[in-house]
Amino acid sequence: MGPPGSGKGTQGELIQEKYGFPKISTGDLLRDAVQRGTVLGKKAKIYMDQGLLVSDEIVISMLQERIVEPDCREGYILDGFPRNLAQAQILEKIDEGPAPIVIDIYLEEKEIIDRLSSRRICSSCKTIYNLSISKKTEVRCDVCEGQLIQREDDKPEVIKERLRVYHEETVKLIDYYQGKGLYFRVDGLGDINTVFDRICDILDGELDELNNTEAAR
Ligand code: AMP
Repeated sequence: MGPPGSGKGTQGELIQEKYGFPKISTGDLLRDAVQRGTVLGKKAKIYMDQGLLVSDEIVISMLQERIVEPDCREGYILDGFPRNLAQAQILEKIDEGPAPIVIDIYLEEKEIIDRLSSRRICSSCKTIYNLSISKKTEVRCDVCEGQLIQREDDKPEVIKERLRVYHEETVKLIDYYQGKGLYFRVDGLGDINTVFDRICDILDGELDELNNTEAAR
């Protein structure tokens, strides 16, 4: 977890590469449904465009379908879920496996706004760019030459709303997971690999412990 723009998607990809668990982003699942013009996608778009949370019902039904796929059997990485207490509680019901390891990427508000305003995404392969870091002036993707676009919800008025929703709904999860001893906060400032090293330190320790517990059973 972490506020919008904290690097959840990017770090999730790196975790997927290194540890082999598939990354599931509820934002990506929703954007895909919007792009395909499905009934759920059409409903979700109204909320997404305003920076509001999509209904728990829609998000959970999409997630539930995804986590029963065979590649999720050994575990999976959630990016952008849960976003409120109700979702956290439902997750415990739909997946009765080991408790999650919760990593919260922390960033100051000013940094978040800077990052989101300069974020661009390849409309084709979805690679994420930060214009102020990459000093990119081209509008084409380095990987596939696709066109770089700004997400509708990365526009200033929507960013404000997304942050409001984050503080109102998602921040409550910190206490929730802290109370269960599952919560780890990581400083999100620094380059991608520095943040990733911080995450790996936590994951290596926690996964070792989990494997030892399983082995002792
Ligand atoms: P993200 O890509 O995670 O920033 O999500 C983009 C948008 O998708 C959010 O602003 C919400 O409108 C919606 N969304 C993503 N994940 C969730 C979720 N777990 N619950 C409700 N809405 C979500």
